[in-house]
This record gives sequence, C-alpha cells and structure tokens, in this order.
Amino acid sequence: MDHITIENLQVYAHHGVLPEETALGQRFLVTAMLYLDTRKAGRSDALSQSVNYAEVSQFITTFLQEHTFRLIESAAEHLTQALLLTYPLLDSVELTLKKPWAPVGLPLDTVSVTIQRGWHTAFVAMGSNLGDKQSYLDHAVSFLSAAETVQVLRVSDYLVTKPYGVLDQDDFLNGCMMLRTLLTPQELLALLQSGEQAAHRERLRHWGPRTLDLDLLFYDDQVLWEPDLVVPHPEIAKRAFVLEPMVQLAPGFVHPLTRQTMAEMLSQLRQREQLEG
Ligand code: ADP
Ligand code: MG
Repeated sequence: MDHITIENLQVYAHHGVLPEETALGQRFLVTAMLYLDTRKAGRSDALSQSVNYAEVSQFITTFLQEHTFRLIESAAEHLTQALLLTYPLLDSVELTLKKPWAPVGLPLDTVSVTIQRGWHTAFVAMGSNLGDKQSYLDHAVSFLSAAETVQVLRVSDYLVTKPYGVLDQDDFLNGCMMLRTLLTPQELLALLQSGEQAAHRERLRHWGPRTLDLDLLFYDDQVLWEPDLVVPHPEIAKRAFVLEPMVQLAPGFVHPLTRQTMAEMLSQLRQREQLEG
C-alpha cells in the first residue's frame, strides 16, 4: 500500500524505567510509516485528501513530550493508536521508536522497537430471543459504537427467525454489523462478551437466559482456531439468519476458507434447504 514516511524525527522526552531517564530525559528518534491510499491526493494535488506530514510530526512530538511511559513498547503502542484515531485516512502505521542514548553501559548504536498497527474489518452477528429483542440488538450496536477502538460502519436490518434445534422457545431477532476496529480478534471477543454480560445482567433480574448473543463471524480474511475463538465462525454456511444480513452488508465478501462470496453461500444454502424440503 502507498505510504508516507517520516524518518528519524528527533524528540526530547522522558520515557524510561530508570529514575534518571524520567527526570533528565533523553533524545528519541521516531520513524513513522503512514499507510494510506494516496491516489486521490495524487490526482487532485489537494492536501485535504492526504495526511499532512508536518502536522503528524508535530503530533508525534507533542504526544511523546506530554506523556511519560516506562517502556518504549508502551510509548509506541499508545502513540500509534492516537495517530490512527486522530487521522481517519490512515489505514495502518508502522512505527519505530529508537532510543540511541539508552543507558545500557555498552557500546551499541541504538535500541528500538518497531510495531505495526492498523484498522481491521470485522463482522459480528447478533441475536436475541428474550424480552425486548430489538432493544437488545440496538444496545449491542451502541455498546460497540461507544468503544473508542471500534467504529460500527454498517448495521443490517433485523430479521425475525424461527428457532431451530430447541423449538419450544420464542422467535429470534437477528442481524449483523460491519466494524472497523483497532482491537485484535481476542480483544474484540472479550468486548463482545462484556456486551453480552451487560445485557445478561438485566436478564438475570427480568428474563431467563439468552437476551443477547454476539458472535465474531469474520476478522479480515484471518483464519483462527483457538480454544475459545474460531474464526470464521464455523456455523456460517448453515445459517440463513447470518448469511442474509451478511449479503445485505457485503454480498461480495469472500469467505476465506470456502472462497465463496456471501451471496453464493446464501444461494447454496437456499438450494440445499429446497432439496431437503
Ligand atoms: P453460541 O454462540 O454457540 O450459541 P455462546 O455464545 O454461549 O454460544 O458461546 C460459547 C463460546 O464460544 C464462547 O465462550 C466463545 O469463547 C466461543 N467462541 C468460539 N468462537 C467464537 C466466535 N467466533 N465468536 C464468538 N464466540 C466464539
Ligand atoms: Mg455466541
């Protein structure tokens, strides 16, 4: 992807584990690779369609001067997040924070940490079959929107679904969201679970179990098989109540394992359902 590079920006700041580092300060060097699509700015020659590197350099300088971190890992982590939240055109940032005068007491050129952080696209399924279902789904949308590191880009219509499996329960209300997030898949799962818990807490008082279910369907085109997190969600191909809203949000999105689009997966599911009567 296109990128703009700020190389070895010098900042005098006070990060470090040792007391003299935070008291006296030292010089840091910052290299930031700002990944964004520069095509529009390139065609129009308009600064407003790009990211102003002078402004970003000032932002980095002020940020590192106004905060104090013990670890350069932490300084880099917080700085990249602040950059991504402040400059919406940025897709990702690779940041190297060098500490050439680190008090190591040995002849070395520099010590540095390099991290790459950026926005990821995720799809989340939501479902509710107890109580005020619509408000539980609305709650899920506003709960996720409230997180600084999550932007809800699109929300599907909600659709009423007959329960399957256990049939003697109320209809479900289902929907999907398309997100942009700085969270890792595991961090996003934890956030979804705390959103469920917020709804569940009310449930314990008023309703039975299952007011809100939030499942991570996709995270970019990543494939994960961890004890507590399987992505893409393994039930997608069988669930019209997931594929229908997904087709509404992103019909051409390709499942990273089946290599089929959401539209293809839904029409296949419909064909299978017809064959089975
Ligand atoms: P279900 O969604 O299957 O009806 P739960 O919501 O109770 O059931 O989730 C059970 C467990 O599924 C969670 O503890 C979670 O760790 C795990 N899990 C695995 N993969 C995913 C995923 N992609 N999204 C959400 N939960 C997942
Ligand atoms: Mg779940």
